Amino acid sequence: MTTAQTISAQLDDDGQQWEDAAGTDIATLCDAVSDATTHEHGIGAGPRRYDFADGSGIVVTDECWDILAPDCTAYCMAGGGCECAAQADDDVITGTLCDYHTGKELRPATATETRDSIEAAAHDDGIGVIVIEGRDCYVSGGAS
Ligand SMILES: [Zn+2]
Repeated sequence: MTTAQTISAQLDDDGQQWEDAAGTDIATLCDAVSDATTHEHGIGAGPRRYDFADGSGIVVTDECWDILAPDCTAYCMAGGGCECAAQADDDVITGTLCDYHTGKELRPATATETRDSIEAAAHDDGIGVIVIEGRDCYVSGGAS
C-alpha cells in the first residue's frame, strides 16, 4: 500500500471526507508524514499536492481530494486520470464522438479521445473504435 493509499483509507477512500475517525483533518494527516512536500499552485483556492517519499501523492482542492494520478507531474486526480498530455496537446483538432453501432453523434470528442481514435484507426482498417464508458465509439473528423 502506498502512503497515499494509506491516508486515503483513513478517510474511507471518500474524496469528500476531510477527517479521519479521530477528527484529524487531511492536511494534518499529510503533514504528519515527515517526508511530505507541498506544492502550492495557482492563486487562492488552487489545488495543493502532497508528495510522499514512495512516489505516491494526494491532491486536495476546495471541493474534494484524491490520490494523485500515476505518473502525473501536475495536479491530476487518479479518479479522472492524468490529463496533462491532453491539455498540452494544443495541436489536436477535436472531432465528434459517435456510437460505433448506430453512428449516432454523442458529443464533442476530447483531444484524448480524438487522438486515441486516430491511433486505433491505424489498426482497425480506419474505423478508429475506442471504448468510452463501456460503449464502442469512434471519433468523426478531428486531426492530430
Ligand atoms: Zn496530470
